[in-house]
Amino acid sequence: MELPAIGQGTWRIGDDPSRRKQEIAAIRLGIELGMTVIDTAEMYGEGLSESLIGEAVAGVRDKTFLVSKVYPHNAGRGRITRSCEHSLRRLGTDRLDLYLLHWRGSIPLSETAEEMERLVEAGKILRWGVSNLDTADMKELTGTAAGSRCAVNQVLYHLGSRGIEVDLLPWQLERGIPVMAYSPLAQAGALRKGLLTDGTVREVAQKHGVQPLQVLLAWSVRSGSVLALPKASTAEHVKQNAAAFELELTEADLKALDAAFPRPARKVPLDII
Ligand code: NDP
Repeated sequence: MELPAIGQGTWRIGDDPSRRKQEIAAIRLGIELGMTVIDTAEMYGEGLSESLIGEAVAGVRDKTFLVSKVYPHNAGRGRITRSCEHSLRRLGTDRLDLYLLHWRGSIPLSETAEEMERLVEAGKILRWGVSNLDTADMKELTGTAAGSRCAVNQVLYHLGSRGIEVDLLPWQLERGIPVMAYSPLAQAGALRKGLLTDGTVREVAQKHGVQPLQVLLAWSVRSGSVLALPKASTAEHVKQNAAAFELELTEADLKALDAAFPRPARKVPLDII
């Protein structure tokens, strides 16, 4: 299945009732502009994000690809079905396009995988995956019978945090398990000091007539095998993020960015927020 390289994150969306109208409008605009993959979680505002998305996608649900996540403590036999049904109700839909284990907890990965497969059989989800799993965890998961059906791993990835390029990303790509990149804007630069003010990032942005954050976004999807999920809650930010679809970084741009923010020389533990 072909998906657009840029979708929409929604962490903290729905938390502030006074921003609700603007946030719904931003998500709807994002869908119109092609960012149809929408990422949420039962954790986000304890359901507030999912409820807001439900309102935003009403009438256009079939144009979207809805992703939600289950808390680790709900990802076992007996609880996951209820969690999934609550997410479906809040989102106003009868199936999730993708359901993720939010991060690894104490429930065995094999049990979660089996339960996910049961949800697929029941038609409540179309496919499932995981989030925040490093290479060793991915090997363990995909070594189990049901775990081999894992469709995706969603992890932190931005220009200032490139650890996955050492082993997790190539390992996944060899097995046809795509990466979804969260915090691709490094939370507007907050996750890596000096990222947005860096001379190379600014030069590349200037050369293309775009903002530094758009460079970050285009960079995160440059390979064609990573799907990025920037979160934006204003029309202006949504437009800028969608415009990154058109931004093609040149070999020279990529080389300069590589030199400014090299990937680590050897394995580092997965960056997680
Ligand atoms: P992002 O890297 O997407 O950054 C979001 C911040 O950038 C917001 O403050 C937003 O402001 C701002 N912003 C967005 N677009 C622009 C723009 N064009 N110009 C200037 N500022 C901009 O951070 P997130 O941590 O939210 O990550 C994205 C998504 O990934 C989450 O929302 C969530 O869906 C997912 N995620 C998943 C995790 C997991 O464990 N699986 C963990 C963390 C995130 P504003 O809102 O004002 O537009």
